Amino acid sequence: MTDCLFCKIVSGDVPAKVVRDSARVMAFRDINPQAPTHVLVIPKDHHPTAAELAAADPELLAEVLGEAHRVAVDEGIDGTGYRIVFNTGAQAGQTVFHVHAHVLGGRGLNWPPG
Ligand code: 5GP
Repeated sequence: MTDCLFCKIVSGDVPAKVVRDSARVMAFRDINPQAPTHVLVIPKDHHPTAAELAAADPELLAEVLGEAHRVAVDEGIDGTGYRIVFNTGAQAGQTVFHVHAHVLGGRGLNWPPG
């Protein structure tokens, strides 16, 4: 999609600190990190939300989740614990409508989230 921020990161038109890059999935550091590790994992194809990706291509959603766990291992937070979050819809805080998994860790995380 031409006016999608994360599609522009996939195409290289917007720079990002990429930490993992596979055929169909990319992971890069959040520009406004909320924890010592805060990485966004996205499918390269444009799907607005996790729900829409689950309906259109469940294997790709599974790939996104697999990459999210690999990010945690790469970052060394798999032993202490980490959180994977898909904000889905505006009321849940989704601001970029290209599905992304937040991988957060490196500090204690509160529950429930705000
Ligand atoms: P959401 O609120 O949609 O769940 O998450 C969007 C995330 O994208 C936010 O955590 C925000 O900081 C991050 N973000 C917004 N613009 C950019 C950008 O240009 N580059 C990167 N790397 N992250 C961004």
